[in-house]
Amino acid sequence: MKIDILTLFPEMFTSPFNASIIKRAMDENIVEISTLDFRQYGIGKHKIVDDTPYGGGAGMLLKPEPIFEAMDEINAADPTAEKRIILMDPAGKPFNHELAEDFSKSDHLVFICGHYEGYDERIRTLVTDEVSLGDYVLTGGELAAMVMIDATVRLLPGVLGNVDSAKEDSHASGLLEYPHYTRPAMYRGMEVPEVLRNGNHQLIEKWRHQESLKRTYDRRKDMLKNYPLTEEDKQFIQQLINPIQK
Ligand code: SAM
Repeated sequence: MKIDILTLFPEMFTSPFNASIIKRAMDENIVEISTLDFRQYGIGKHKIVDDTPYGGGAGMLLKPEPIFEAMDEINAADPTAEKRIILMDPAGKPFNHELAEDFSKSDHLVFICGHYEGYDERIRTLVTDEVSLGDYVLTGGELAAMVMIDATVRLLPGVLGNVDSAKEDSHASGLLEYPHYTRPAMYRGMEVPEVLRNGNHQLIEKWRHQESLKRTYDRRKDMLKNYPLTEEDKQFIQQLINPIQK
C-alpha cells in the first residue's frame, strides 16, 4: 500500500511512524508512507497557502491552488491507481473500524490535513471521503491522519505477528474484547478466573464470548443492535438485565 500525506507540518509524522509496528511495516515494504509539504505550491515569494474568507468572518482558509497542485503531483506519479483521497474534517463521517477495514483494501491512500479555519470549499471536489476523528476540533488534521493511518496499517496482511489478534480486537468482531490476564495467577488478592487456567478450550471460548457480551452490554449497548445475537446470547443478556430470573 502507498500512503501520501498532504501536510504543512511533515515533521510531525517523523516520530510516530519511526517506531514499533508501523516502522516494521515500512521496513518490510508492506506500506510506503510519504509526506508532501504543500507549502511548496504556495503562492508567491512567501509561499502563501491561506487567505481570508470571501464574505468576511473569523480565521483563514486553505487556498485551493496548493492542494490542487500537490494532488496533480501525486496523480502524475501514480496515474493508474484508484486512490482514496481522504480529507481530515471534523464535519466528516466519523472514523471507525469499518472504515479502517475499507481503507486497508485500497492500494493508494491520500490524507489531506487541514489547518486554520478550514478549506476553500472547492478542495472538496478532489476527495473521495471526508472523515472526522471524533466530535471535537483539533488544531490540524495531522493527529487525525496519524490515528487513521495507524488503525488502517495494522490491518494489512503481514503487519501483525498474530493474524487472530486483530480479528478478536474490540470493534473488529462487533463486540468489545473480553478481559485478559497473564501471570501471576494471584496478585494482591486479585485472582485470575479459574476457567482460564483449567485448559478446557471450549469453556474458555464460551467464557470469553460471554465476557465480551457483558462488557459490550455494560459499556456500549448501541453496538449490540448490529451484532447477530444467538438465542443463547439473548438469554445471557436477559440474565444481565434481570439477574433474579437466573
Ligand atoms: N472551522 C472548522 C470546523 O468548524 O469544522 C475546524 C477547523 S480545525 C481548527 C483545522 C483542521 O483540523 C481541519 O480543517 C481538519 O483538517 C483538522 N481537524 C480538526 N478537528 C478534526 C477532527 N475531529 N477530525 C479530523 N480532522 C480534524
